[in-house]
Amino acid sequence: MSFGLAVRSLDVAGGVQRAGAAPWYRIDGQPIVVEGDPVEGHGQDAHGAPVMVEGEAWYRVAGLPVCREGHAASCGHATTGRRGFRLAALETSTYADLVPRQGTYFFGGAGMAGDYLANMLHALRATGIGNCALGNRHRWEIAPDWGDAPRRIVDAAIGVELLRRGEAPGMPMGIEDYGTSGGQFNLIGYSYGSLVAAQVAIKYARQHAGVVDHLVLIGCPISASFLTELQGDWRIRSLIVIDLVRYGDPIYAGMTYGELLLAVPTLNAQLGAGTGHFFYSEEGEAGNVRRRVLATYLHHRGLR
Ligand SMILES: [Zn+2]
Repeated sequence: MSFGLAVRSLDVAGGVQRAGAAPWYRIDGQPIVVEGDPVEGHGQDAHGAPVMVEGEAWYRVAGLPVCREGHAASCGHATTGRRGFRLAALETSTYADLVPRQGTYFFGGAGMAGDYLANMLHALRATGIGNCALGNRHRWEIAPDWGDAPRRIVDAAIGVELLRRGEAPGMPMGIEDYGTSGGQFNLIGYSYGSLVAAQVAIKYARQHAGVVDHLVLIGCPISASFLTELQGDWRIRSLIVIDLVRYGDPIYAGMTYGELLLAVPTLNAQLGAGTGHFFYSEEGEAGNVRRRVLATYLHHRGLR
């Protein structure tokens, strides 16, 4: 079975769909309709201010069931749907051509190129997490590296702002960067790299209908709304957020842009010290121990 998804302005359930709860997810340029979205009034009583009361429980955006043709508004009118974009049950997916991506990919923070990345991969492999590789950060270099000048951190913060609010438009995930062998598809990101991992995950889910086994966000300055989107997409099976606040990191998942800017002096002070936000990028044996503990934890959480 397949059904056309309903979208704002173009579809009608007695009255025109006035959806807005999931504005980032668009078809034909219009946000899709989810359960609870309003429908334009088109008569008396129940038809005066109806809302959508039916949706697909197995297909959610931001945790909300998506509406397709035939689903009812509270007044009893059923909605129309897009013929060009059909919602198919899993076994007859419209994305049947996708060869699922596999492997575990680690995205380091901007400017954090260094020995610690090789050691991070070593630590992951040592715990039994297979097919580990570094993510293709060249595809995602928006900000200049986080050097030792405060100005560069501010620049990075602006680059971060491009990726932290939600799916960045007009950028493919780069599916060719990922292999097809391995038991799971895992994306682990640290600092700026965590925003890249989030982008890859949401794009893989939405553009390719692919499933991410584990998305791990470490020291991640993601916005609260994007975090909610990730949590609400069933194709991202496990979302693991690791804040480093207990080590003094001012960055945390769900923070505001204002908090991010206020964090810059603290980040600058922590940069050379291997503390706080830079807890896991410390070179040397002290950092190696931290990365082993991190890898063991991720293995415990189910990464393989
Ligand atoms: Zn009606």
